[in-house]
Amino acid sequence: MTQALDLLNLQSVSKSYGPVPVLHEIDLAIRDGEFLTVLGPSGSGKTTVLRLIGGLETVTSGTIKLDGQDISRMPINRRPFNTVFQDYALFPHMTVAGNIGYGLSIRHRPKAEIKRRVGEALDLVQLGKFAGRYPVQLSGGQRQRVALARALICQPRLILLDEPLAALDLELRRQMQEFLKSIQREIKTTFLFVTHDQEEAIGMADRICVMQAGRIRQLGTPHQLYYKPNCEFVARFFGDNNLVPGTLGATDGAFRAIETSLGTLLCSTQGQPDLSAAASGVSAFAVFRPEALRLAEASDGANRFSGVVTELAFGGSSTVAHIDAGGQKLRLRLPSRFEGSHLRHGETIDLAFAPGESHMVLS
Ligand code: ADP
Ligand code: MG
Repeated sequence: MTQALDLLNLQSVSKSYGPVPVLHEIDLAIRDGEFLTVLGPSGSGKTTVLRLIGGLETVTSGTIKLDGQDISRMPINRRPFNTVFQDYALFPHMTVAGNIGYGLSIRHRPKAEIKRRVGEALDLVQLGKFAGRYPVQLSGGQRQRVALARALICQPRLILLDEPLAALDLELRRQMQEFLKSIQREIKTTFLFVTHDQEEAIGMADRICVMQAGRIRQLGTPHQLYYKPNCEFVARFFGDNNLVPGTLGATDGAFRAIETSLGTLLCSTQGQPDLSAAASGVSAFAVFRPEALRLAEASDGANRFSGVVTELAFGGSSTVAHIDAGGQKLRLRLPSRFEGSHLRHGETIDLAFAPGESHMVLS
């Protein structure tokens, strides 16, 4: 059933450059109309995935299907996709309108149609007044919007974006993130967006595919990845999780005990069949977010321990305290207006987290 909604399917796709494998049997289904972000550290194979889909590279093995048809060896110009690169790749000697209409003019569309569609694309990216300017007369953000309009005007089935915002400064980057997201929502074209920046990925994506060393480690919504990373890599890569090593103990309903240097902790295994099924004594990590950790109250029984505040990082609305709990480093995030403002360096505090606000990953 879900098959019908998939735009693109990568099935067991591998890629090697000479003898060096860089992608290992990737399986990925991209849904029609979604904003899918490929997230991973530099060198994890993100660009290679994009280039294989775009047709700039050929798979070593496996297939890529569009609407169920194998396109693995379809030439680049016949694939209904367009790419937006980080360096814009605009023609410097052409105006904004010329750059945007270029794809239609090489397809010999009538002049009147080109004019109309360029006008529509300019409106969409809010550059109506800039039609006659040259790329050199534009800011970085404006150039990136021209590059986007140029990709959109051909009405592709899929837009491939390879770290398109990496060259922009932070403020502009945030604006462009919102802008891209709103355009995607409006036109409902499928976006495949590559980034190494997890904050960017969280903010924009419907789903995120996390890559490491040529493999997909997890695919899910930002919420799923944030709260239920399925492995140590994703748990560490995604945000500032607390990971406490230990060995698995007894199961208690939806929770499982883990023996750690902080004592016996009780963590959720909900939605994690591999952790419910793992034998006692197996190595794992208790995982909980800095915002799940809090100052203990008298009623707290489980998951309670003490630690020393070693650093306080004021971050506006919240304050992050670095804690040393008997050698185990932890982070505690508190609202600055309340508890956060009372903490002192060197102070020993009682901490707790709710079993329901934690989970585990195998190590
Ligand atoms: P990312 O985009 O995640 O940074 P890439 O897909 O660019 O990663 O690269 C993945 C791996 O493939 C890297 O180790 C890179 O050095 C290697 N690689 C990429 N392109 C080539 C190429 N044309 N020839 C040889 N190795 C390459
Ligand atoms: Mg890359």
